[in-house]
Amino acid sequence: MNIALIAHDKKKELMVQFCIAYSGILSKHSLYATGTTGKMIIENTGLNVYRFLSGPQGGDQQIGARIAYNEIDLVLFFRDPLNAEGYEPDVFSLLRLCDMHNIPIATNCATAEVLIHGLERGDLDWRDIVNPKN
Ligand code: PGA
Repeated sequence: MNIALIAHDKKKELMVQFCIAYSGILSKHSLYATGTTGKMIIENTGLNVYRFLSGPQGGDQQIGARIAYNEIDLVLFFRDPLNAEGYEPDVFSLLRLCDMHNIPIATNCATAEVLIHGLERGDLDWRDIVNPKN
C-alpha cells in the first residue's frame, strides 16, 4: 500500500514516535511524506520514505495530486489544531480529495493508530482491488 505521512511542525516529534512504534508495519509498505516530515522520519527511524517538497513549498499539493489519481491508500496527517487558520486550506483540500476516492485519512494520532492496526489486520485490502498497481 502507498501511505502518505504529513505532520505540522508541532506534531513532527509525535509522527516520529508513531513511526518508531509502528516501523514493523510501516516498513512493509511504500511511504511518502512532505519534505521535512520525511527527513525527520528517515533520520530517526531508518525507514525508506519518498520525500516530496516541503509543505509550504507545495509538498501537500504534490501528495494531493497523487490522492486525486487514487494512488495513495492511506493518509496520516498529524495536524496542529492550534494553528488551524494557517493550515486549514491544505487540510481541507486533502480531506476533500480523500472523500472523493474513499481513501482513509487520519488527522490525529489516535485515529492513525486505529487505521494502522486495521491495515495490518487486512481491513484495507480492498484498496488492492481499487488500486491494483500496488
Ligand atoms: P513539512 O510539511 O513536512 O515539509 O514540514 C508539512 C506541512 O507543513 O504541511
